[in-house]
Amino acid sequence: MLSARIAIIGGGLSGLYAAALLEARGIQDYVLLEARDTFGGRIVSVPEAASAAGRFDLGATWFWPEIQPSLLRVVEEFGLATFAQHETGDMLIERSRVHSPSRVDGYASMSTTRRIAGGMGALTDAIRYRLSAQKLVSGCQVRRVRDLGECIEVEADDRRGRAVTCRVAHVLLAVPPRLAAHTIDFTPALPDDLATQWKSCATWMAPHAKYVAVFDEPFWREQGLSGEARSSVGPMAEIHDASAPGGRAALFGFLGVPAAVRIQVPEAVLLGHCRAQLVRLFGDRAQSPLAEFLKDWAGDPHTAVAADQTPDVHHAASLSRTALSGVWRDRLIGIASEWSPEFSGYVAGAVDAARRGVEELTAPDMAGSFFH
Ligand SMILES: Cc1cc2nc3c(=O)[nH]c(=O)nc-3n(C[C@H](O)[C@H](O)[C@H](O)COP(=O)(O)OP(=O)(O)OC[C@H]3O[C@@H](n4cnc5c(N)ncnc54)[C@H](O)[C@@H]3O)c2cc1C
Repeated sequence: MLSARIAIIGGGLSGLYAAALLEARGIQDYVLLEARDTFGGRIVSVPEAASAAGRFDLGATWFWPEIQPSLLRVVEEFGLATFAQHETGDMLIERSRVHSPSRVDGYASMSTTRRIAGGMGALTDAIRYRLSAQKLVSGCQVRRVRDLGECIEVEADDRRGRAVTCRVAHVLLAVPPRLAAHTIDFTPALPDDLATQWKSCATWMAPHAKYVAVFDEPFWREQGLSGEARSSVGPMAEIHDASAPGGRAALFGFLGVPAAVRIQVPEAVLLGHCRAQLVRLFGDRAQSPLAEFLKDWAGDPHTAVAADQTPDVHHAASLSRTALSGVWRDRLIGIASEWSPEFSGYVAGAVDAARRGVEELTAPDMAGSFFH
């Protein structure tokens, strides 16, 4: 039986950053429970360890410091270097399999798109390394959150299926709202309107899959191409340069094939189609990548549920972080990115929602329940 004042459920960016904010306030009495064997959630950079060849993002890649200055401050606070997304050169448009792709002027994003050196995973790694390692429990999937009156009992399974129980006063829920409402049993049940709201909130990017191909050289740049492409042929609908400055070159693409179709196709076949598309667009040198990665988020039970198999282009409208009344009010606070009123679904949203949740939890009017 574990015991702490606060349980953070989920070890993606929002959960890790909430832990960092608690520790920065001198609050050590928490435990963070993460279902996967690794931390980072929708942020995954490969290879796992820092590498001179660079790391390549299978989840989040970009941020926009001009409109997300608070995320930039966090990136700087953790001493991370950033660089601009490579956008120089022409873009390719692939309209049909029988005609060559057309070449159009590339366009720079209105707001500068930046990446983090070492991949977005460098951010979650940097935060995690600053935390007390013994408070972070991976391979621990929360199944049930139960009100016992004087405390909340969090029940989880470890990676061998053994029960792990934790008694706490407060829960910071760093799991996307839809996933939490579908996969965690709350006793008593969440108020109906809250459960409905959380279930109908699409988990940003959960329906998507990303392909990355790593090369020795960014050979497309020699042809005056930016590496960017749009395609109505597929399997990738949108392709970008993913090269790591000073490291290997790379291209990545979002698959346009729906999740329901992808699941029926063996991974090796999908990889072959992605490679063939890169050859059609960028030439024979794309035929032999040094490494290839495919991550299908729609098939990952720690991100997506059945309702996420269909893309939803809308970011969540303002969501309630906690119940308006009843036993869960202020004792269960949602802090995953989707709960951010400003940047719902984005990396910046994870930081924003975590900060709001920790501020609420430690606000003076909560002191009676929190610090007693
Ligand atoms: C393919 C893709 C591309 C993206 N690109 C960008 C981008 O370029 N820019 C951008 O700003 N955003 C992007 N995003 C979104 C960004 O990744 C997310 O907004 C951000 O990572 C969310 O962090 P989070 O901690 O709120 O949630 P998550 O990262 O989803 O973390 C939730 C954590 O909870 C864990 N968990 C789930 N259930 C349980 C349970 N029952 N018990 C314990 N733990 C549990 C999960 O394993 C996970 O680690 C992208 C996402 C994807 C998938």
